[in-house]
Amino acid sequence: MNRLFGTNGVRGTINDSLTVELVSGLARATGTVLGPGRIAVGRDSRMGGEMYVSAVVSGLLSTGCDVIDLGLVPTPCLQFMVPRLGCSGGVMVTASHNPPEFNGVKVLGSDGIEVPRSAEEQIEKVYREGGHRIVSWDRIGRYWRHPTSVREYIDVIKRHVDVESVARAQLTVVVDGANSVGSLVTPLLLRELGCRVISMNCQLDGKFPGRLPEPLPENLTDLSRAVRSVGADLGIAHDGDADRATFVDSKGRVLWGDQSFAIIASRVLHRRPKSILVTPVSSGRLIEDVARAAGAVIEWTRVGSVDVSHRIVEVDATLGGEENGGVFYPPHQPVRDGAMTAALMLEIMAKEERPLESLVSELPQYYSTKAKVPVPADKKTAVLEVLLQLTADEERVTLDGVKVFYDEGWVLMRPSGTEPLWRCFAEARTQNEADMLCQRGIDLIRKAVDRL
Ligand code: MG
Repeated sequence: MNRLFGTNGVRGTINDSLTVELVSGLARATGTVLGPGRIAVGRDSRMGGEMYVSAVVSGLLSTGCDVIDLGLVPTPCLQFMVPRLGCSGGVMVTASHNPPEFNGVKVLGSDGIEVPRSAEEQIEKVYREGGHRIVSWDRIGRYWRHPTSVREYIDVIKRHVDVESVARAQLTVVVDGANSVGSLVTPLLLRELGCRVISMNCQLDGKFPGRLPEPLPENLTDLSRAVRSVGADLGIAHDGDADRATFVDSKGRVLWGDQSFAIIASRVLHRRPKSILVTPVSSGRLIEDVARAAGAVIEWTRVGSVDVSHRIVEVDATLGGEENGGVFYPPHQPVRDGAMTAALMLEIMAKEERPLESLVSELPQYYSTKAKVPVPADKKTAVLEVLLQLTADEERVTLDGVKVFYDEGWVLMRPSGTEPLWRCFAEARTQNEADMLCQRGIDLIRKAVDRL
């Protein structure tokens, strides 16, 4: 049976694989598992947002949960409000960076973090077996709106940065809101930080007429052009639910996520002795370099933001991040937060009085290679056991597939979640070395398959 929950919640195509019935059933199951109590709900600008929020609200109320409706908000804003409003959980209607025809649901626990796998499994079980709670007529939940959460969220982000320094720098920033909820926060936040803000794609529109919601370089050509043509210091682009921020320098170059993460990490990790940095095993050498230079310890996790968030709390980490540009700043909250990430970057540029391209230029450069190795579906799991034997003498991390460290770089071998193959990802100081390490990984996987 296919699992409903993927890496970040349940996603599907609108009125197709993601039906109103599915969403209201999931809401009933969520209310049963997380309730009784209050549940906060929010949505991004996607098509079907009102329809699915209505289904979520109905489902939750029928289980006796009270519902606080925050309306249109970024996912990190809802996450921030859940504990603040004393909620037992939250439900965000979003499909994050997926194409426009998708929508979905992220389920949050009382701490605002997406619920762990175990809770997702419980929710799925209740959904499939129909064991949801139904309360009597006099115990149906209450419903009210909380329209001020964006204001509260912006105020708290400002408390985490040196507002005066940022204002003094008088930076010009182009914000690309992806026609979604980041538009409600980042332009306003930046103006209040004293920046001159030029906004684009900041009218909410679920058809995403400006660009696709994933902030990849190929989707940000208009932003790059705008930054150059107005002579801005910086461009900032969010994904559909604004938990991520991608940066463009004044020359119009789009930074890789690991570069912006490294720039922020190299400053934040120095603020505490014995800092802990939490990052998935897919993160590269750049992050390791930055952590080492700051005397910080790296806590590796499985790939996925939910694992990073929970680990941050467990080890009281200073910072978390992913190579896709997701930055988790625990003094604010232990989840990815696009607006917080933007504010941190502006603070660094302002305090050091340096353009972004200069901050990037001092980062070491690494090269990577990716490959797919077909593995018969029935052997996909068994390959791991053999790989563990084959790499037993190497320096490695085995949380999620096998990551082996060599002098010249590293190679990560992971089974695909959906296809009959293993993925191989290598990184080194030269392209040639990266290619060789990737080949070493491919050979190891093939050897493991042959032994089965
Ligand atoms: Mg997102």
